[in-house]
Amino acid sequence: MSNFNFDVITLFPKAFELINNLGVITRAINNNLIDVNLHDLREYGEGSYRQVDDKPYGGGAGMVLKPEPIFKAYESISKSLKSKTLLMTPQGKVLKQKDLVRWSTLDQIIIICGQYEGFDERIRCLADEEISIGDYVLSGGEIPAISIINGVTRLLPGTLGDPDSLVDESHNSFLLEYPQYTRPLVFKNMKVPDVLVSGNHEDVKSWRRQKSIERTLERRSDLISNENLKKSSQIKRIIQESNQFMKFMINNEYESYPDW
Ligand code: SAH
Repeated sequence: MSNFNFDVITLFPKAFELINNLGVITRAINNNLIDVNLHDLREYGEGSYRQVDDKPYGGGAGMVLKPEPIFKAYESISKSLKSKTLLMTPQGKVLKQKDLVRWSTLDQIIIICGQYEGFDERIRCLADEEISIGDYVLSGGEIPAISIINGVTRLLPGTLGDPDSLVDESHNSFLLEYPQYTRPLVFKNMKVPDVLVSGNHEDVKSWRRQKSIERTLERRSDLISNENLKKSSQIKRIIQESNQFMKFMINNEYESYPDW
């Protein structure tokens, strides 16, 4: 058994074949760092047709997953001490990087995937957390589950070639990552900024920080809260100097000047 187990309850185990071709995850499986155990819901279905879904009480479109097969599948999974159960649903809390970081210290994540029009309400009591991967609706919980397996696995020690690559990346702090370049120096008339080839580490660091702030202001100023602003005089200065000021105020629904 590996250090970290993902146990997934799904009606479509074949959807998880993708993880055998996903670089980091495939490597983690091959190196015995994680196991992805698929529990085929159909095997826990009822009667000779192995029924897993039924019409909703009260009428309405589509079918919903019945509670008994999901409970049976859930009860068949042996739980470790540091285990959490996540239910995939567009009604859940929207997934954030800090959730992946939090879960990366567990040793088991059980993921329940819905299908069709969803699942019987009584299934909710199995979940420690209900998770949505965004404000849109997919046809099943498999792609959300693969996203979580992927996002947690790359945070586990020993999975990434260079663990330092986790330090600066977007969403680790409240800032997005700075622009990255690799060779060639000039490509279709677009040149790598001089500072990055200057060899001056301090200048590179300060340029990256500046770009990171500018990029967050341009694209996701909603990530910069008043609390974060109080912590960073550099951000305040850049907002005040830049033409992003009004946009920042509007995005953050400030009616008057914030108190900084
Ligand atoms: N009628 C349901 C949605 C059903 S979608 C509702 O309005 O809430 C079918 C299944 O796909 C869901 O049960 C869930 O497991 C999965 N799913 C769809 N969109 C999702 C999202 N954004 N995040 C997580 N799971 C999602």
